[in-house]
Amino acid sequence: MEKFLRELWDALIYFLFPPRCPVCREISDERYRLCAACEKKILRLDTYAGNFAPIDRVLRVTKYRGGTRDLLRKLKFDNNLNVIPAMKKILDDVASREEIFSLLDGVNFAVPVPLHAERFSERGFNQTTEIFGEWLSKKNLPLRNLLTRTRATPKLYSLNKAEREKILVGAFAAAEAVDLRGQSVLIVDDIFTTGTTCRECAKVLKSMGAKKIFVLAFASDFGENFSQAVAIHQSHKRVDNTEDRVR
Ligand SMILES: [Zn+2]
Repeated sequence: MEKFLRELWDALIYFLFPPRCPVCREISDERYRLCAACEKKILRLDTYAGNFAPIDRVLRVTKYRGGTRDLLRKLKFDNNLNVIPAMKKILDDVASREEIFSLLDGVNFAVPVPLHAERFSERGFNQTTEIFGEWLSKKNLPLRNLLTRTRATPKLYSLNKAEREKILVGAFAAAEAVDLRGQSVLIVDDIFTTGTTCRECAKVLKSMGAKKIFVLAFASDFGENFSQAVAIHQSHKRVDNTEDRVR
């Protein structure tokens, strides 16, 4: 009887609140899962071909435009944690892919890009930790807050690469004195755009002795729209997206 009631309840919930794609809100097969069309549009598990020394490799999970941006905006601008299950689902779906295995092979632990203390207390959470924390623990990779943001940086969304570099130099430091000699570290970040933020973090980790540095970004433009986006922002001064706006 109990089982019957449970099934009836599940059917009722399914009927009243059918699972919808977290991006386009179309009815989908499974709760929190992207519909096939959105998955095709945004899922892009690939390595950035550029040189981001001292980072050894950058892998992204999704393309920033075409859906992920909306999820990240809800998370960062509206502090809406309801989008997290959908993001975790995306990560779970790629967890067994070769690209992930090869990236994580030999990695000792992960470090999230830190928020400035003021930003953290405003928002109440570090979005990168929320996105990756549980997934990394399933991969037996501890997430260690080894970095700190030494100063609040202005919003970077309208700045080009050179301007970002200037602003971000020295913006990160070791949170504690830890010897990382011989360690391979994975930096996780929500959005990778010019790479300036992650490179600054990587420099600090290198100065702590880290041997190898990898980056896993939930979303990235990989230059597909970035220069275009900056041009739009600069000409219209329109408040919009991209890396670090509300970090
Ligand atoms: Zn969709």
